[in-house]
Amino acid sequence: MAPPPIIPDSPSTVSVSAIHADGWAYKVPCAGLFNPTYKGLDVLDFCSYSFLVCHGEGKTKQNVLFDLGIRKDWENLPPHIVRKLLEWGTELRIGQHVAENLQENGFQLKDLDAIIWSHLHWDHTGSPSKFPPSAKLIFGPGIASKFMPGWPAVPSAGFREVDLAGREVVGLEEPDFTLNVGGFGAIDYFGDGSFYLLNAPGHSIGHLNALARTTSNPDTFILLAADSVHLGGELRPTEALPLPNSIDVQGIVPRPCPIEDMLQLHRSWA
Ligand SMILES: [Zn+2]
Repeated sequence: MAPPPIIPDSPSTVSVSAIHADGWAYKVPCAGLFNPTYKGLDVLDFCSYSFLVCHGEGKTKQNVLFDLGIRKDWENLPPHIVRKLLEWGTELRIGQHVAENLQENGFQLKDLDAIIWSHLHWDHTGSPSKFPPSAKLIFGPGIASKFMPGWPAVPSAGFREVDLAGREVVGLEEPDFTLNVGGFGAIDYFGDGSFYLLNAPGHSIGHLNALARTTSNPDTFILLAADSVHLGGELRPTEALPLPNSIDVQGIVPRPCPIEDMLQLHRSWA
């Protein structure tokens, strides 16, 4: 018997827009990010993204944001996070709130249906209060019981109570992930196979991924992995997605370069 498909078939798709909002973090200590540490690389600079996921057309169109990046007014993060950033000597330079960036590009904030937090780290939670309270806030398992209603009632919370005020908050829990997509517990968010929320614990409590189907037949997907994965090379090769036969990149000779030649360069390749 053939094995079940890793991802269920569907003709339905979403569009995904990556929003940078000029959000950068400079001089973040590597010690808490990498293991083992790289000698001579003590701090790291990185940028932060938010993703607008749009489903359907006209009156039935729905829009959700997956993560909000770094909030422009980062000094208004809960005090224990601000203190840590200052101790680290980390510099945050944020050009815009994601809400400002969306408006500047013609998006009506009232058209946003939901904000999904992949997890509670400061470079992902942004400023929900910049969006109308009609947009609900969704986060992963275990967060509600541990951190609601937020700082200051819960001193260790990574979000402020005031940022959630007047907004429907949906704390997903393990039993909500009734499907299996690629080995992950999954929720079919729009009910048509176009966009799955995946239960992806490990990096932090309640960590979520999302899988967006951006074309159908042939299918293409974007995995919004948040902090589960930072490079595609952490996932490949797999049985389902092996290495290509050749690599066609400017500057690598011969072009295209057979994969066997490239593998000679890899220290782990016997
Ligand atoms: Zn994180």
